[in-house]
Amino acid sequence: MSLWFTENASDGHRLNWKVKRMLFTGKSAFQSIEVLDTESFGPALVLDGIMQTACGDEFIYHEMLAWVPLRAHPHPDHVLIIGGGDGGLAREVLASKTVKTVTLVEIDPMVVEISKKYLPHHVEAFFDPRLTLVYADGLEYLSRPEIPSYDLILVDSTDPEGAGPGSVLYTPEFHRRVFDALAEDGLYIQQTGAPSYNPDVLRDTALSASRTFPLCRVFWCVVPTYPGGFFTFTSGSKQYDLMHFHPKAVEHARWYTPAVHRAAFALPPLFGRLVPESVRQAQVQDPA
Ligand code: SAM
Repeated sequence: MSLWFTENASDGHRLNWKVKRMLFTGKSAFQSIEVLDTESFGPALVLDGIMQTACGDEFIYHEMLAWVPLRAHPHPDHVLIIGGGDGGLAREVLASKTVKTVTLVEIDPMVVEISKKYLPHHVEAFFDPRLTLVYADGLEYLSRPEIPSYDLILVDSTDPEGAGPGSVLYTPEFHRRVFDALAEDGLYIQQTGAPSYNPDVLRDTALSASRTFPLCRVFWCVVPTYPGGFFTFTSGSKQYDLMHFHPKAVEHARWYTPAVHRAAFALPPLFGRLVPESVRQAQVQDPA
């Protein structure tokens, strides 16, 4: 009898993965935590019933969330990651030898411990001396007077829907605190989910970021284990445009290339209509 894991992506859409073995099931103070060994994508972390990261395709999401900003910013020395307790994004950022420090602010210590045990190729970052791990709520962390200013702030959190801890990271107040925590030429990026199933996350975040930052851009990639595959990121930048420069290749990358970087900002009208007109106009690459 085969074992299947079902994710309720929305009221009208479910995703099923065939599971070879349940590696872990538990509950922290913040969320339920499962690790499945899936038939098609290997070990995968699930929080509150939502797929977070699977070994078979996690590099797509982590390469885009890391290398689009790392290539756009001329001196990304100090990086703040909010969320990302599985370690995958920190691993990708620390693959850049020019990055001097990474501060990872994760609200749930149990996610880090379980990832260290069951997601071995996510977690090399936790042993990198440039990494500082802070267990805190990202919104609260940004209100601390002693925090330094950052060149990049990358928000790799759970989605804002539901009762999980991610919702506070999708508010105008959070974006204002991100703005204040960034250096005068800093930039931020946030995962804004699968607009095929949850369009409001992209719509609301792009509107808030465009009102907070002088430059707002939206880009995308395709993550097979996320609902519908098409997955978005929203950015806010004080100075550098994520689009208008010639990015260098990343030697070890299996998804990110300079051409993929450029293509990721071509917004299909189906999703372009969700973002503010100013963002849509700025991202028109081949004017008619
Ligand atoms: N790649 C995944 C995605 O796009 O859905 C995110 C993976 S990562 C495991 C998400 C992490 O965000 C979780 O470990 C969760 O505990 C953390 N998180 C959620 N809300 C947070 C908050 N307010 N402050 C800090 N970490 C938070």
